Amino acid sequence: MGDRIESVRFGHYAVPLAQAVSDAKVATGRQRPLSQIDVLTCEITTRDGLAGLGFSYTTRAGCRAQFAHAKEVAGNLLGQDPSDIGRLYDVLLWAGASVGRSGVATQALAAVDVALWDMKAKRAGLPLAKLLGAYRDSVRTYNTSGGYLQAPIEEVKARATRSLEEGIGGIKIKVGQPDTREDLRRLAAVREQLGDDVPLMVDANQQWDRVTALRFGRAVEDLGLVWIEEPLDAYDAEGHAQLAAALDTPIATGEMLAGVPELVRLIDLRAVDYLQPDVPRVGGITPYLKVVALADHAHLQVAPHFVMEIHVHLAAAYPRESWVEHIEWLSPLFEERLEIEGGRMRVPDRPGLGLSLAARAAAWRLDTAEYRAPAARGSSSAPSPGRL
Ligand SMILES: [Mg+2]
Repeated sequence: MGDRIESVRFGHYAVPLAQAVSDAKVATGRQRPLSQIDVLTCEITTRDGLAGLGFSYTTRAGCRAQFAHAKEVAGNLLGQDPSDIGRLYDVLLWAGASVGRSGVATQALAAVDVALWDMKAKRAGLPLAKLLGAYRDSVRTYNTSGGYLQAPIEEVKARATRSLEEGIGGIKIKVGQPDTREDLRRLAAVREQLGDDVPLMVDANQQWDRVTALRFGRAVEDLGLVWIEEPLDAYDAEGHAQLAAALDTPIATGEMLAGVPELVRLIDLRAVDYLQPDVPRVGGITPYLKVVALADHAHLQVAPHFVMEIHVHLAAAYPRESWVEHIEWLSPLFEERLEIEGGRMRVPDRPGLGLSLAARAAAWRLDTAEYRAPAARGSSSAPSPGRL
């Protein structure tokens, strides 16, 4: 008989950023500067004494909804075998299917799903990358957090240099301002500072129309960019496909898409060179693996978005070597630090994700909820959610 889930605990944390940041969505007036990341954590324990930790996140609004949804469906987990991840995912998915099988509902499930995968790898005594089937022990990594639009160009250049000195292998800067000439000036300044050999990416955060994106892309063809990210609205798959066909510079997008069908559409339409799924946003590791299996079949690169703490494992387990995004915003939540050297991020050799919540995180906790199976329950049936 398999192990059984004894407890499920959720936490809502608001992790402050050291400095508020602005991308093109702020420059165009659509959003306010980002000053914190909201995180939904899920901690699962079992009868055999194992523990799994997973998390999801939101920027700006949405985490309270994730937290509420997770609480509503959590009762389905109690008493169940935590290794049956596919079946449990299905049960949770259909428990909340009335509000849809993507978006907030599945982002709430992502925290649970990641915790179950963390536990499964711990049970095997393996890092998650090795449980999935690793191709490498480290992955190329580039920095994003130093290249936001609120930073004067001298600060962007200084932070890029510091990132490279710290062992990071590439630099991404934000573009997509209302005045494209200002983007081009900043980009040229960073390229001059870094020289031609440092891998460099740009990210427009969906703020261009098709004509502007094509003009920008043509203007920077000679800069040797690794990719142009989110040149268009995240849902304009056809526009991305046209752009990818017209430009030599690779096109990257996918981070904002919140379900498997949305990402598969990018693959089917050949809309990207680099697909950028995000485990929490797409609903967890289980749906992420479906997406990247299709991406590999289509010979695409995969450069997952944000949450390097999870994606370092998944990028190591993807056949084609790509890039993991270095953003240190969630680091204060965890006890451990990722090792970076020679342009690469090492896959932790600890079992599971190799993460534990830091004691300091309690200061940022806004809410918590815990569910426990009745003591000495011997059967395999779970209590109904109505008990909670
Ligand atoms: Mg981006």
